[in-house]
Amino acid sequence: MQFVTDAIVLRRTDYRDYDRMVTLFSPEHGRIDAVARGCRRPKSALMNASEVFCAGQFSLHEAGGRYSITQCEIKDSFYDLRFDYDRLIHGMYYLSLADMAALPGQGAPDVFMLLLKALAHLCYSELPAEMLTASFEMRYMPMMGFMPSMDRCVVCGSPVDGAARFDEELGGVVCDRCPSDAPRISQGARRIIYKAPRTDYSVVPKLDGHPDWPEAARLYRPFVERRIERRFRQIVPDLP
Ligand SMILES: [Zn+2]
Repeated sequence: MQFVTDAIVLRRTDYRDYDRMVTLFSPEHGRIDAVARGCRRPKSALMNASEVFCAGQFSLHEAGGRYSITQCEIKDSFYDLRFDYDRLIHGMYYLSLADMAALPGQGAPDVFMLLLKALAHLCYSELPAEMLTASFEMRYMPMMGFMPSMDRCVVCGSPVDGAARFDEELGGVVCDRCPSDAPRISQGARRIIYKAPRTDYSVVPKLDGHPDWPEAARLYRPFVERRIERRFRQIVPDLP
């Protein structure tokens, strides 16, 4: 059976003399492990299509549950990331988080679109990578079912408006009336984390210069790390 799907290459492993096993992430089909036959031969049309970060329209052949890539129309390879080691680490981190969302036969179009937008900003803008990464995490986690409570106290449920504490273990803010050893969170940082999953990634550039995003990024990271399996976070970029 032949079919066509948008996808991005999350991982690849060399295989035999000239082939590669490629892990694709498709918005409709989730994870697809496919062989790129002959892609390591000089002048192979699949050479660039079998590199990590390559996003495009892949033509696949399926037989008995095995997939092979027959063709790829590359839309973006995010090639320039390879020339900036720091931004490359951030990009690899996005791929590793997307990897957790990519399950065989289960589409995840929201995570797929988020990944492409975040990579485009990382590759083509001069915005701080730490800001782009925190913005990615704050949208990714709710898509994975982890939505922090940023406007209601996680202990007593009363509304929180203003500065508070952020308890990453309990998963949200703690009001001033409830006892807590969690770190303080400013009104600005709390609003950033509250708004992120409610706004599209395209508004992220507006955060640039906002004094509170580094604080939001630092408080949010432990919330991510506690909930993401260790094997998916071998590559973790530094915080601001
Ligand atoms: Zn409370």
